Amino acid sequence: MQKASTGALPYTARMGTDCLFCRIVAGEIPATVVRETATTLAFRDINPQAPTHVLVIPKEHYADVATLAQGDPGLAGEVLATAATVAEEEGLLADGFRLMFNTGTYAGQEVFHVHAHVFGGAPLGPMLC
Ligand code: C5P
Repeated sequence: MQKASTGALPYTARMGTDCLFCRIVAGEIPATVVRETATTLAFRDINPQAPTHVLVIPKEHYADVATLAQGDPGLAGEVLATAATVAEEEGLLADGFRLMFNTGTYAGQEVFHVHAHVFGGAPLGPMLC
């Protein structure tokens, strides 16, 4: 019997021309990497919406944060830990920062490889849209 997909296949097994961020992980598309761990990658957003705007992803492919948190809560924690370290290294802890996961169509998610947006470096207002 074929195993149902949980979204938890290794990124290499799901890597393809259809996932931009898997291709960044594979080094096929350039990105300005600010931090890398065994399981996560953090790189600057190409279209920054704040003075500091970094994306943090798991190297393994999950479509969104709900799938990640349900499929591998430990890895979700590693994404959060990397985001916190990036915030510290970018000097965001004193004045604060925003961590955001767009999830699905209503939230305007454009890249379906889960990513945390780390925003900071200026007052952000009540919400970024
Ligand atoms: O949350 P959402 O899916 O809308 O965000 C995708 C983000 O990925 C955008 O902020 C976009 O600027 C960024 N991006 C990037 N590098 C790429 C393609 C998209 O930083 N090569």
